[in-house]
Amino acid sequence: MASEKEAALAAAPSDSPTIFDKIINKQIPANIVYEDEQVLAFRDIAPQAPTHILIIPKLRDGLIGISTAEERHCEILGRLLYTAKLVAKQEGLKDGFRIVINDGPNGCQSVYHLHIHLLGGRQMNWPPG
Ligand code: ADP
Repeated sequence: MASEKEAALAAAPSDSPTIFDKIINKQIPANIVYEDEQVLAFRDIAPQAPTHILIIPKLRDGLIGISTAEERHCEILGRLLYTAKLVAKQEGLKDGFRIVINDGPNGCQSVYHLHIHLLGGRQMNWPPG
């Protein structure tokens, strides 16, 4: 299986449908931990920490990554961050956690539907790789 970096470099920024559309539409299974009208959160298929959850807007609306955000997205961006906090609490991450948004090839983004990574359950390191 390709490394995260190889997968990211092979993925070109695009507004074509992604695997996350199939998860939103329940065409493929996912371990969903939170859902409301606007936001979906599910466990990452290749977890990088004991808790690794992706938080996404159900409607991509041009948000292929954080770099394509416009002022009209401010409300959903806030909701995604707030959901990360809610899910962290739900997961019992009382000693802390990390949230990450990868953007573009240099940021190692491989799925072009904006998502927040919520990582927790172990001590994180800094700087990231
Ligand atoms: P990277 O692959 O470098 O982490 P991204 O920030 O774009 O890049 O993250 C996409 C994430 O989506 C990856 O962590 C990957 O494991 C996850 N993923 C891909 N397909 C699925 C899936 N079907 N279910 C859950 N998570 C998935």
